[in-house]
Amino acid sequence: MDNSSLQQRRQGAIPRGVSTAYPIFAARADNSELWDVEGKRYIDFAGGIAVLNTGHRHPKVMAAVARQLDAFTHTAFQVAPYEPYVELCERLNALAPFKGPAKSLLFTTGAEAVENAIKIARAHTGRTGVIAFAGGFHGRTALTMALTGKVAPYKRKFGISPAGIFHAPFPSDELGVSVADALKSLDFLFRADIEPSEVAAIIVEPVQGEGGFLPAPTELIAALRDLCDRHGMVLIADEVQTGFARTGKMFGIEHSGVEPDLITVAKSLAGGFPLSGVIGRAEIMDAPEPGGLGGTYAGSPIACVAALAVLDVIAEEKLIDRANAIGARIKASLERARMRNDTVAIAAIRGPGAMIAFDVIAPGATWTPDADATKRVVNAALDDGLIVLSCGVHANTIRILNPLTISDELLDEGLDKLTRALVAAKA
Ligand code: PMP
Repeated sequence: MDNSSLQQRRQGAIPRGVSTAYPIFAARADNSELWDVEGKRYIDFAGGIAVLNTGHRHPKVMAAVARQLDAFTHTAFQVAPYEPYVELCERLNALAPFKGPAKSLLFTTGAEAVENAIKIARAHTGRTGVIAFAGGFHGRTALTMALTGKVAPYKRKFGISPAGIFHAPFPSDELGVSVADALKSLDFLFRADIEPSEVAAIIVEPVQGEGGFLPAPTELIAALRDLCDRHGMVLIADEVQTGFARTGKMFGIEHSGVEPDLITVAKSLAGGFPLSGVIGRAEIMDAPEPGGLGGTYAGSPIACVAALAVLDVIAEEKLIDRANAIGARIKASLERARMRNDTVAIAAIRGPGAMIAFDVIAPGATWTPDADATKRVVNAALDDGLIVLSCGVHANTIRILNPLTISDELLDEGLDKLTRALVAAKA
């Protein structure tokens, strides 16, 4: 089997709407390494898009899944419930930054978690409106696509959004938007489009992921908390990408010290198995009527035992501390690259913990995004055996999402490959 014949079959059988970053096909993977069908080895700095904080096939996760496969694989939680679901929710309730009692429930994908957080907020408040941020990403289903703050490619050709969804600008130095600007826009929105008393929820990523790894300033999160308290709105932290040690805390919102009302989780929760959830303040979580929430596969027992193992691994291997150490090492390497003059121009090295990104810009004094050079970096890295992803509203951000279980040796090897790609991509 080779990549190019698979690519041809893929093009014949699968629509172009699901695009793939690279024309390589996976054969196997282990911790921070992946091999394609031609036997070429890659260091994985994508982690399946923020899913593999505990690496590919962590032995503890695999052992837990193997035990579960021998017991049962599916009953539907609504038919015959099982302990791993209950235990996982108990542990998520204890881990999440809520002072009072919390409850959780489980789904399969990040979009489903976000959809259900909105349903819960609407049931609790009896209101419809939802405010999200430009550049934010919350999923591709009809409702989450509407919440996602980027038209191309996510909304293009897919018709008008459901009513009641509004966007405010997200603060970013590079984009020239301050926290005051964002708050002024919210104030404007409340006067021009929807009264706060009609708004069920504000949803925000503690660090915008797909939007370019832009941390939400603490002043913004605190101001949103204040608005929600004053007007009875629910504050939802979308932690699908930021959760589970990635940012150097268990949840990204902890950096702000602000307590949200609901938290959506997915991705690294279950170390490579499809699982998502909503964690929230108990009195809000109990608003929907029995039967209003759930799903046939929601909270698969296989994924639940994987997630329980993931939580053990995060604690035992001190992955929160490790995220901070890895992030410092990545930033130091990028700073060294930034000081060289034989690479493409890079700027704005940023991000908490190991949620690190930087921008590729055109040479010169002003911040001009260079999406073509970004593509060249990503492709040069791939040629050299490093999988790394771009993101951002200008497609000029390179983000690093390596497993937190990576060794220093492999991390350095990957960072050397990244530096070589920055050199190779210089026009
Ligand atoms: N929210 C955020 C913050 C995300 O990053 C993503 C996925 N990139 C989603 C929601 C949607 O998750 P999924 O693709 O599993 O539906």
